[in-house]
Amino acid sequence: MKSWLEISEGALRANYRALVRAAAAGGGGSMPVLAVVKARAYGHGADLCAGVLASAGAPWLGVADAEEGVLVRRALDGTVGAGKVKPGVLSQPEILSNPESLVGPESLVGPEILVMCGLLPEDAEAIVSHGLTPVVWSPDQLGWLERARGGVSQISVHLEVDTGMSRQGAVAGARLGLFLDRLAASASVRLGGVLTHFASAEVSGSPLTELQRGRFEAALEQIAARELRPEWIHAGNTSTIDEAGSIPWLRRMAGLYGARPMLRAGLALYGYCLPLKGAQSAVRDHLRPVLAWRSRVLAIEDVPRGATIGYNATFVAPRAMRLGLLPVGYADGLRRELSASDARAGGWVMIRGRRARIVGRISMNLTTVDLSSIPEAAPGDEATLLGEGVSAEDHARLAETIPYEILCGLRARPRLTA
Ligand SMILES: *Cc1c(COP(=O)(O)O)cnc(C)c1O
Repeated sequence: MKSWLEISEGALRANYRALVRAAAAGGGGSMPVLAVVKARAYGHGADLCAGVLASAGAPWLGVADAEEGVLVRRALDGTVGAGKVKPGVLSQPEILSNPESLVGPESLVGPEILVMCGLLPEDAEAIVSHGLTPVVWSPDQLGWLERARGGVSQISVHLEVDTGMSRQGAVAGARLGLFLDRLAASASVRLGGVLTHFASAEVSGSPLTELQRGRFEAALEQIAARELRPEWIHAGNTSTIDEAGSIPWLRRMAGLYGARPMLRAGLALYGYCLPLKGAQSAVRDHLRPVLAWRSRVLAIEDVPRGATIGYNATFVAPRAMRLGLLPVGYADGLRRELSASDARAGGWVMIRGRRARIVGRISMNLTTVDLSSIPEAAPGDEATLLGEGVSAEDHARLAETIPYEILCGLRARPRLTA
């Protein structure tokens, strides 16, 4: 194995618990937190993380698409079979395919699965047959689901309201009206939830968030005017929980319409959050990274002063150096922006507890690091690319991006550890 990801089950659970505690902010009791495991759980492995989060009590898991939803459903069924989640109770697809056994939604094992990033006509069948809940906003989508219904009597959907992202969702007013008309005409689709997504949650007091809340309120009113009573009203992301200002509002909205409020979180589950503007972070101090990315030193080489290192010789050894070769590169998600030249220091890895700086350009599958100040390093030594001493925030800073992109760009295989 050239490199691997060690996924700390303990850290993932602890981060989830920290989010649940923070979601109770502003009084009014606890609020469920949907755990987002889309994009292979931000690179951490959706199947592994889904099992851990389910057993930690997450009532909902969020995936990007139907394919990911099926993967997570199978992983959960495996976990249930293995007795890790309440044993002996039927999973949702079993209940759906065997209505006789239905003893009410309370009997569902583990979390429901929300497919958050839209669907295509050909996804509808997998969604229905695996008991996934799609986020929808257009009349067409309802038609696709109805046609894929098979023997399932009720398909629950969550309606996204576009309040300012112009990405997905129906805008309150005429567009939402058309959707609600179509929904009213459906015998098999039921409105299980309503959601929106904030564009600037990390900015405390953002006027855009204010505007988005107002538009969401208008949509909720329009939905209630049609006598629809969704069970869930949800919004937010890591920064919404971290910034906390929208939590009492969400609780109030849910109260007003007799629904259950819910927050959603992804990044913080994995131990990171964006810096907040204008507010104290509620969760940062309670999070720790879940993932360590490790590899091994393939070879060690002494090179003389003047040796050229890597493509285009952007780095020339200023003195005799000892170089370590690592079997990872940008194909594995080690960002090429972490390369080092004569003019610019790049990233580093940790070997024997010390920094070994990357030298020269990162190649597709190989990277050279400076071991000159770690004389005891030996071939086969473990190298930490992300973990103690080097964070996804460090990589994000060097690559001029966000920790999200660093994490979900990792390609190495995840393994669960304690
Ligand atoms: C990805 C996503 C989230 C999670 O966002 P984080 O910032 O990672 O917490 C929440 N809601 C929706 C709709 C998403 O797509």
